[in-house]
Amino acid sequence: MYDEECPYCQHEVEIDHDDGYGYDEGETYHQECFYCNKTFIYTTEISFDHYLKKADCLNEGRVHDYKETHTYPKVCATMQCTMCGDKQPLPTEVYDRYYKEWQEFIGKEE
Ligand SMILES: [Zn+2]
Ligand SMILES: [Zn+2]
Repeated sequence: MYDEECPYCQHEVEIDHDDGYGYDEGETYHQECFYCNKTFIYTTEISFDHYLKKADCLNEGRVHDYKETHTYPKVCATMQCTMCGDKQPLPTEVYDRYYKEWQEFIGKEE
């Protein structure tokens, strides 16, 4: 996510947050440097920065602007408002279609 510096070789390294790893404050995590292959540890500090944006849909008379999320498989996607981030399930007919597609896809894999 952020480029940090390896404490051993001072090379810029990227902290690997795959699967949400390394996000708990107060925990010590370890990672291997991609360059010198030494293992370093890190702790995470979550800063509470706030980013303020207009959310017209939350104001009187406005409607949400729901767009499908880019989730894979599509059957796990939700509808998310581009302005306020509110999430809604896929419309039933869309969900059913994706579910069928996914079933067919899995069937082909075997
Ligand atoms: Zn290194
Ligand atoms: Zn909204």
